[in-house]
Amino acid sequence: MGVLGRSYGLTADRLQQVELVTADGTVHRADAETDRDLFWASRGGGGGNFGVATSFTVSTVAAPPLTTFALSWPWAAAADVLAGWQQWAPPAPDEIWSTLLLLAHPARAPQEPVVRVSGVCIGGLQHAASLVDGLVRAVGSRPSARSSSAPDGILAAMLLEAGCSTLDVDACRLPTHGPRGVLQRKPLIGASDYLTQPLAPAGIEVVVDFVNQRQADPAVGEGGAQFDAYGGAINRVPSADTAFVHRQALASVQRTSSFQPGDTAATIERGRHWLNEFTAALRPYVSGESYQNYVDPDLANWAQAYYGDNLPRLRAIRAAADPDRLFSFPQAL
Ligand SMILES: Cc1cc2nc3c(=O)[nH]c(=O)nc-3n(C[C@H](O)[C@H](O)[C@H](O)COP(=O)(O)OP(=O)(O)OC[C@H]3O[C@@H](n4cnc5c(N)ncnc54)[C@H](O)[C@@H]3O)c2cc1C
Repeated sequence: MGVLGRSYGLTADRLQQVELVTADGTVHRADAETDRDLFWASRGGGGGNFGVATSFTVSTVAAPPLTTFALSWPWAAAADVLAGWQQWAPPAPDEIWSTLLLLAHPARAPQEPVVRVSGVCIGGLQHAASLVDGLVRAVGSRPSARSSSAPDGILAAMLLEAGCSTLDVDACRLPTHGPRGVLQRKPLIGASDYLTQPLAPAGIEVVVDFVNQRQADPAVGEGGAQFDAYGGAINRVPSADTAFVHRQALASVQRTSSFQPGDTAATIERGRHWLNEFTAALRPYVSGESYQNYVDPDLANWAQAYYGDNLPRLRAIRAAADPDRLFSFPQAL
């Protein structure tokens, strides 16, 4: 799932062929004609379940011109921003993708929590501005800050999205992933849900309340909720066509609890407790589905949440491909 997914689909949707070594040592070149089950499973059921992927062939498109944008509102507008964003972002034209962040940062209190929409639009500054105006109308109040830029090429745009606007690609890595890498790990605990209906007003209140609670607790680090828009090309693929089942999603809702390397176990657990309470309070308002790539060890019904109606076929393919369960991990199929 990436910032151009609403235009071009998931990366898994662009997969043409995967070379996969299964548990018995056989090399498969799975595509739409050959080893169709493995190909189907590799688009959404992926990581570590069916074999070792040694090569991916994907269909590409010419890199389009992009505009990036960001808008912030005062925290008092948080509920209106969430209400407006969830109406505006999922059905917006394919070329615009956005993410809404509601984030508490207790260490910076008395500054208020952040409420910010940022995103990427295929096309120039004017086109993006005319689409983003629709968000401002949906929210019903003017943002306190609004900016946009037209990065010079797709690489510059992706570095910006990765938080590396002042770095080159070799520097935009962990030092353990390359000698010039300067990034540092930012540990966090995460949980995710999908919205298939807009959040009801009471659900919006839950989100705002939990960010407020987090902001008021100086004993924990940053924490909040990030809503990523789905829709567009992602949702035009029927949910049984690939193993990725979440094709009715309006947005994913990722909740995170950050901590610092070296924090005590008690501090980390306090953050995890907040996260679990947040998840439980939100449950009545979300779909019961979760994103399989945001692996969540605290998710009790993970198999159903990650794979939904595609679970039986995935389990059958897994049993055929790896009957002795050579590939295993806590949430292996
Ligand atoms: C900070 C952060 C931001 C993220 N942002 C996004 C995002 O914007 N969009 C999104 O879609 N996801 C996002 N993710 C989730 C990300 O897609 C998953 O974490 C993904 O699984 C990472 O793949 P990996 O190969 O790097 O990870 P790994 O942890 O190495 O692998 C994930 C799983 O795949 C298996 N695996 C690894 N290599 C192979 C292989 N060659 N063949 C078969 N199985 C293999 C592993 O055993 C493991 O089970 C984000 C994650 C983080 C931590």
